[in-house]
Amino acid sequence: MICFNHNLIWVHCFANPVWTQHYDLHSHSTNSDGEHSVDYVANLMKKNEVKHWSLTDHDTISGWPMAETAAKRLGITFIPGVEITCERGIEPDVEELSRQNRERASKSWHLLAYFPNLDHENDLAKRFAKWLEPLQNSRIPRMKKMIAKLAELGMPVDFQTVADKAGGSIGRPHLAEAMVQNGYVETKSEAFERWIGDGLPAHVAQPKPSISEAVAMVKQCGGVTSLAHPLYYGVPSKELAEYCKSIGVDSIEAFHRSHDDEYRFHLWQACKEYKLGVSCGSDFHGQSYGQNPGNMPVPIQDLCV
Ligand SMILES: [Zn+2]
Ligand SMILES: [Zn+2]
Repeated sequence: MICFNHNLIWVHCFANPVWTQHYDLHSHSTNSDGEHSVDYVANLMKKNEVKHWSLTDHDTISGWPMAETAAKRLGITFIPGVEITCERGIEPDVEELSRQNRERASKSWHLLAYFPNLDHENDLAKRFAKWLEPLQNSRIPRMKKMIAKLAELGMPVDFQTVADKAGGSIGRPHLAEAMVQNGYVETKSEAFERWIGDGLPAHVAQPKPSISEAVAMVKQCGGVTSLAHPLYYGVPSKELAEYCKSIGVDSIEAFHRSHDDEYRFHLWQACKEYKLGVSCGSDFHGQSYGQNPGNMPVPIQDLCV
């Protein structure tokens, strides 16, 4: 089924694209900054008719075994995934940012990595897990530094309270939640916009690999990559696709929940021009954000996995 506004034009322009809504290749659980358990996310995927699901927690693969078990129970395919926090690839373009109505671009780029054929017990899986470890381990000292900065700014937060909110991979959303709880801000967004967003007074940068370093590692371990939610980076679609091609990124998450139809279309076409695949994802973090997984129409012949 095609759910885009301009579907008539699309159908005439492209020879029989076969669309599917059975994939959701981007979701989070309490193993990183999602608000639901792996099981809960898996059940929602099934309920929303997703048949190929990837759990892509930030910088951790700790949810894979549970996801695999849940997927088996529900009769859906689980694709082991992870969202790797990387250095920015290209500086943002002011005109593109204003076209997208964005004030600033994200300082990190997120790379989705998928391992459709990975056996957890094999050497490649272990090698990848080992490479990921320092990225994961750096999250706790970084959080402690941010908490120290907040204390200096007159907003003390207890580390344990933040850690308790994180089922696994501790991150800024957990800190934002504690700040709301302590009454320093009214919403989590306000915490990001005033205090803990990139470059703001209580922000501490996280050590990150470059995109090409991450791509090389994923490839060595038999995985495929997709650049997550390009809307946040403020780079024109063609320039972005050209860059991704040049450093070996396999695809772009053109069909991300936050992209409007026009932007999805431009990214999709740029991917075709540069012979890249596309991926689709709800980037589901939780129902309290008003989000729902699945229902991501994507042209199946261009999918990266
Ligand atoms: Zn992301
Ligand atoms: Zn995400």
